[in-house]
Amino acid sequence: MNVRLHDTLTGAVQPLEPFEAGHVRIYSCGPTVYGPAHVGNFRSFLFADVLVRYLRWRGLRVTWVMNLTDVDDKIIRGAAQEGIGIDALAARHIEGFLADAATLRMTTPDVLPRATAHIPQMVALVETLLERGHAYRTDDGSIFFRIASWPSYGRLARLDPDAMRVGERVAADEYSKDDARDFVLWKAVKPGEPSWETALGPGRPGWHLECSAMSMAYLGATFDIHTGGVDLVFPHHEDEIAQSEAATGVPFVRTWLHCAHLQMGGRKMAKSEGNIARVAELLEGGVDPRALRYALIAAHYRTGLSFSDESLGAAAAAVARLDAFVTALTTYRGEGPDDPRTPAVIGGAREAFTTAMDDDLGISAALAAVFDLVREVNRRIAARSLSTADAARALDALRDLDRVLGLLPDAGEPELAADVRELIDRRAAARAARDWAASDRLRDELAASGIAVEDSRDGQRWRRAGTPSDA
Ligand SMILES: [Zn+2]
Repeated sequence: MNVRLHDTLTGAVQPLEPFEAGHVRIYSCGPTVYGPAHVGNFRSFLFADVLVRYLRWRGLRVTWVMNLTDVDDKIIRGAAQEGIGIDALAARHIEGFLADAATLRMTTPDVLPRATAHIPQMVALVETLLERGHAYRTDDGSIFFRIASWPSYGRLARLDPDAMRVGERVAADEYSKDDARDFVLWKAVKPGEPSWETALGPGRPGWHLECSAMSMAYLGATFDIHTGGVDLVFPHHEDEIAQSEAATGVPFVRTWLHCAHLQMGGRKMAKSEGNIARVAELLEGGVDPRALRYALIAAHYRTGLSFSDESLGAAAAAVARLDAFVTALTTYRGEGPDDPRTPAVIGGAREAFTTAMDDDLGISAALAAVFDLVREVNRRIAARSLSTADAARALDALRDLDRVLGLLPDAGEPELAADVRELIDRRAAARAARDWAASDRLRDELAASGIAVEDSRDGQRWRRAGTPSDA
């Protein structure tokens, strides 16, 4: 196995050597389900998707776990504002997340554990930390991790332990901690907040604790790869390492992969920056989901990626080029004999693709290999020097590489006809203009064309009638 990945902890590109031969265990920090995820979040999720797809394409078995944080301050606040339970709020946004993920062709993780379903595992972890002297209880019943008991704290984020600031999710004056750097493992019950009756007393888990407990529950005390956005390095992942290794005494994660920010308008895309774009809104505005996927995966995961109308336009052009190529190959009939050089062109593209992806998921060079293949074969199509058999071979090769990329139209599923796409766009415009009569009429017209549309809080979604709505 020649796959090499950049590990944040060591700062080096190192060979992937699964803990169990042939089986890669991966944990990705997933969404906090208090609102719809934005495309900046999806850049991080889709980078993990490409990683998983690639390792499987390379013949490895992969177990992929992505958590759903369904209890935290933001969820509690949001649910209180709407006067509903956190379960109801979380359920709505989990559904939205999964729908967006399917739209963007994200591989469904093998396990999508919800924090609230793993309280016993979290409690057990805290009990071990208390027994081992790495945690302590404060007067109000909250439990903190004692950073002074863990000398290697700060290695992942390359922090000077003495200069560390307080974890972002806990106000320093909110609890009576021994040390301002210590982070909360278990939050004592507060009036009006959800809580669980446990051996630790009534309360709820801290965010960092969730990921340690759930990753180790499904992947073991030591697993291969942990992914997340670069903003999670500190304090979230630093805290995960400390509490996991302090409890188990063995290394937690072998390779840490962090995805750089998606930027829009020159700044990191973030809800707090007010510059977010959401999947459903973009689709409603006429963006092709495959073009959106392309725009989010086409740059190397460790480089900043700028999201704009221009980047979406370039992505749409690239996807259109792939589509035109598939159509050309599908309809091509060449009378000429097999060109003995064509298999080398196809094999060369595959080799260049693999070499690029092996090298820390070099997606740009991998895509370049795909488009080199497109150009070379298109030249032969134009010259009618391609045999029908080689056209089929080229299409097979492209579809095989697309198991990693997820960009081609599904085989057997024709793209939407232009007139149907126009009806969908017109209905979106009618809804935006609050022209309900036109919106209803267009819905009927679409139904006559075999397209069912549904309206959600996040906008209009369409599907082919007869397919499940979550497909
Ligand atoms: Zn996490």
